[in-house]
Amino acid sequence: MVYLPRMRERLAWLTFPVLMGGFVALAAWGLGRGFDPAQWGMALAVTNFLVIVGVEQLLPRNPAMNVLRDRQSLNDIGHGVLLSALARPAGGAAAIWAMAHVAELRGAASVATLWPAEWPFAAQMVPALLLWTFGDYWVHRAMHTYTPLWWFHAIHHDTPQMHILKSGRLHLGDELINATLKPLPLLALGAPPEILVFVGLWIMFDGNLVHSNVDQRFPSWAHYFVPTVQLHNLHHAQDRTTQDSNYSGSSAIWDVLFGTFSHPDRFPLGPMGIRNSPVPAGFAAQVAFPFKAQLRRPCASKAGAAG
Ligand SMILES: [Zn+2]
Ligand SMILES: [Zn+2]
Repeated sequence: MVYLPRMRERLAWLTFPVLMGGFVALAAWGLGRGFDPAQWGMALAVTNFLVIVGVEQLLPRNPAMNVLRDRQSLNDIGHGVLLSALARPAGGAAAIWAMAHVAELRGAASVATLWPAEWPFAAQMVPALLLWTFGDYWVHRAMHTYTPLWWFHAIHHDTPQMHILKSGRLHLGDELINATLKPLPLLALGAPPEILVFVGLWIMFDGNLVHSNVDQRFPSWAHYFVPTVQLHNLHHAQDRTTQDSNYSGSSAIWDVLFGTFSHPDRFPLGPMGIRNSPVPAGFAAQVAFPFKAQLRRPCASKAGAAG
């Protein structure tokens, strides 16, 4: 009888390397063979989602949390549909439009030739991920620092449950900012489209895992380098000390460098969500919430809502 818990724990040590490594390898394999990036990306997105939903049922990190029993799951899907249909295409188009106009400026053309396109694909991923995660860190930190932005980002944080659907629970205004700003450094340096597609898949895989309810185990040192579910759970905690930390969902190095790193060994995880949350429960009210909140000053501050 002791074998089952022991086997379960062993499997939990394998979930991150198998799911992250496996899907990254599949992405690289398909793109390397010349598969259509849009179709291959969509196939991997659907497969990754279904696999993680299945593993959440078999190896849950917290048995009290479940995508099938969360009353906000339908809202999560609604936000995911809105951001996929509206915010991401609009943000991507805005980023490309901005770069097309910047390219007309003097000197921009020379910057756009800096990308090391002659490097092997795997080597190009190092500067690509560093640049993306750097932008991701500062955009995310701004969402927590400036109250008008926080009201958009609060939709993502307003949940006591963590599971796969929380990865796509972002207000369309939040995602519009993300999709517009985060690709800019790569576009400015002239990164090729396959690099942008691969980075997009990479951050989707690790974004799904850090929000999932899959039991994932790591050695203590790994939290300094790897996007772990423990780090991101602390970011989703009600406690403001850790909520305003661990901003990077894809690598902790920027949090370590800029002094916003909370190691899971030093900070016990308390309740998640927003303390005294002003976010309404209904979907339409959640979509309208950040716009209405801008008008409710001065009480409508992050400190007032979450502190
Ligand atoms: Zn956040
Ligand atoms: Zn999150």
